[in-house]
Amino acid sequence: MHLDPFELHRPTSLEATVGLARSLAGRFNYLAGGTDLLPNYKMHINLRDHLIALDRIPELYGRSERRLGAMERLADLEADPALRAAYPVLADALGEVATPLVRASGTLGGNLLVETRCFFFNQSYFWRASLGFCLKADGDRCHVVPQKERCYATHSGDLAPALLALDASVELAGPDGRRTIPLGALYDAEGDGIRRTTLRPGEVLVAVDLPADAAGRRGRYKKLRVRPSYDFPELGVAVAGRWDDARVDELRVAVGGVEPFPRRFDELTDPLVGAPLDAGRIATLAEEIGRRLRPVHNTFLLPDYRRRMIPVYVRRAIAESRPWGPP
Ligand SMILES: Cc1cc2nc3c(=O)[nH]c(=O)nc-3n(C[C@H](O)[C@H](O)[C@H](O)COP(=O)(O)OP(=O)(O)OC[C@H]3O[C@@H](n4cnc5c(N)ncnc54)[C@H](O)[C@@H]3O)c2cc1C
Ligand code: SF4
Repeated sequence: MHLDPFELHRPTSLEATVGLARSLAGRFNYLAGGTDLLPNYKMHINLRDHLIALDRIPELYGRSERRLGAMERLADLEADPALRAAYPVLADALGEVATPLVRASGTLGGNLLVETRCFFFNQSYFWRASLGFCLKADGDRCHVVPQKERCYATHSGDLAPALLALDASVELAGPDGRRTIPLGALYDAEGDGIRRTTLRPGEVLVAVDLPADAAGRRGRYKKLRVRPSYDFPELGVAVAGRWDDARVDELRVAVGGVEPFPRRFDELTDPLVGAPLDAGRIATLAEEIGRRLRPVHNTFLLPDYRRRMIPVYVRRAIAESRPWGPP
């Protein structure tokens, strides 16, 4: 496998970046740490002639309890004691991304925008050619759910569920200006594994903002994967909340690694506020979340197994987040 030639641009300001994005419309990708994009390029997946590197743009760096620059390296976020203390669910998730080597190069922005995955897609050109390719790259059909309309590739980032559970927002900048949206609105619930985000053409993810009341939420991130030292999530459950003795003051549960976008379940957790979160309520909540998610057979573990693990992981994550711990 080799990298085909491309032209590399290294702007030094956000304005210049957005200007380049406008002039190269549709012919470029942004490059952050490259740990996801460049392996895909080596497999000749969705190549562009131009890459716009984000590593020289000061505005994309910097971290505080309330704002994390998109170009912050995962390893630096993981090692930050203030972040670890304020956001246990984020600390858990950071420690679960890939390997220390990938986290030394991979960035926050790249992780939130990591390509969706499928075992018919993350393959060499020749492997994919032997099947006639697929909808997501070079072909016109899906091999997972045979039809020609929709891709079921899975969102496989670990940080999105954790940051969803913390009510994070994202700052975006593009040719049409700047905006800030809730992180949940970045993922396209109406889309699929190809149309996976609501980013407008040329938009850059500038930073992640955390609300003042997110710090101090108790939380855990529980990840199912085949090889614990290395693999993408087959399921990732993030929980963050506050408890007043046995009663819930606030509870967020977000799940990734199952469908083309991560999901939060406020419609199920909001009614629990003020109630004692006993084993029965936790079990009912966990089963209902499991019923609402539909894994397909596009990752290593069978979908039925992944679906049955959803309530198990939700129960564990909530039990370990409570002030009095697991039963
Ligand atoms: C062996 C291996 C194992 C892995 N395991 C995991 C895992 O367990 N969990 C996990 O979450 N990930 C995993 N990854 C995926 C990936 O490496 C990480 O998610 C990493 O955080 C991606 O960041 P990056 O900076 O390298 O992104 P890049 O590869 O540079 O970019 C990824 C995508 O995001 C876009 N992008 C990046 N930054 C921006 C921005 N600021 N604005 C707009 N677009 C942007 C790029 O154009 C590209 O489409 C793994 C990767 C490898 C190689
Ligand atoms: S889900 Fe279907 S279209 Fe999407 S990557 Fe897999 S095989 Fe291709």
